[in-house]
Amino acid sequence: MRPGRIDAHMHLEWAGWRAAKPVRPQRTRKSRPGWLESVATARPERAAEYRRLVSSLKSYDEYADAFVREMDEAGIGAACVHAMDRELEGYYRVPYWDILQQIAKVRDRYPDRFVLFCGIDPRRGARGVELLERAVKELGYRGMGEMLPHYHLFSPDDARVVYPLYRKCMELNIPVSTNTSSIPGAAIAKVCDPMLLEAVNFDFPDLNICLSSAGLPYWFETALMFATQKPGLYIDTADWQAVDEYNIRLYLQLLRRAMDSACRYKIMYGSDNPVYRAMYNQKEWIDIVVNDAPKYGFQFTSEELDLYFRRNFEDFLNGVPA
Ligand SMILES: [Zn+2]
Repeated sequence: MRPGRIDAHMHLEWAGWRAAKPVRPQRTRKSRPGWLESVATARPERAAEYRRLVSSLKSYDEYADAFVREMDEAGIGAACVHAMDRELEGYYRVPYWDILQQIAKVRDRYPDRFVLFCGIDPRRGARGVELLERAVKELGYRGMGEMLPHYHLFSPDDARVVYPLYRKCMELNIPVSTNTSSIPGAAIAKVCDPMLLEAVNFDFPDLNICLSSAGLPYWFETALMFATQKPGLYIDTADWQAVDEYNIRLYLQLLRRAMDSACRYKIMYGSDNPVYRAMYNQKEWIDIVVNDAPKYGFQFTSEELDLYFRRNFEDFLNGVPA
């Protein structure tokens, strides 16, 4: 991986892959603005700029190029791309294998800039296990994720449904990233409870698992304590973008508390781009930790920033015993 910061959790998801009328698993009330609408209106000027950028990009390659430019501006040397498996639910019109190939081509165009994770919808059954193995062996994917229990309606501790995938991860010597947040107001989140990963960690002690989004918003104490106490469990800070001072402080406080405990070796920066790109670009959000933290009453040493923005991801990726 190229020197510099690492974004441990992003997506290179092209709108052109989506079905004309994607089937969404969650219900929404038409009379109220949804979660993504609130993201898109939090900072209207940034949202307008992002809309202009996206409408100017004519191909997936141009889209990827724009994200790499943004990584350069933010001092991000490498990023972990989580390829979501949303074919079975009808969200993508493009076969998932084609998507995995397109993302792998972007990685090949930018050597050392991307590490790829392949999310598997466990409803694929044995074919999902085969798909994971092919993605690793034929396309060079290096982890399983982002797993989406709330979209795919499974519990991550379901031995019958998900353990065959974990066993394959152990065999392939790759880590796992699974969502432990909720989509506000839209999906049933209880299957994302980090507590469900306790049994998985117990049954697979040598499997590195990232509690993606660190239990936001209901369970971040649980996620923080799991990552502090249990070898093998990590957290990332994907989805923590906010504009209000209370939530920015909460984010910095989580990071500070992690750094004051053994979790200092477990917490990883993640943007979840492009989900929050209409609110912050990479540089602006990183600056809140690197440059603006004292304004909110927090300080981080250069060693702590190095752990958060790079070294912990390297351990997460490479730390699974052979
Ligand atoms: Zn994500």
